[in-house]
Amino acid sequence: MEQMPNCPKCHSEYVYHDSINFVCPDCSHEWSGNDVVENDEKVVKDSNGNILQDGDAVILIKDLKVKGSSIVLKKGTKAKNIRLVDADHDVDCKIDGQSFSLKSEFLKKA
Ligand SMILES: [Zn+2]
Repeated sequence: MEQMPNCPKCHSEYVYHDSINFVCPDCSHEWSGNDVVENDEKVVKDSNGNILQDGDAVILIKDLKVKGSSIVLKKGTKAKNIRLVDADHDVDCKIDGQSFSLKSEFLKKA
């Protein structure tokens, strides 16, 4: 048996569910029980907690060795036009025409 929430407006306990929305018989308030769950889009943040978006420019906050190569990306290197990805790294970008996969925790928004 599903437990009914109290009405968010008048706190009535006599709420019922009409198959789409919750309905309060006391104040006629209707609301969807799904409001909280809907937005689970991944948010990527930089080292300062700023939210990163596709197309942002970022700066490396430490030297990063590129996996599988001898390349070291220097602290302070700027990457323009990043693309967010959902993988073990979360930012794709190009530096000097080469593609790199970076982790947002080592970046800050430029
Ligand atoms: Zn109510």
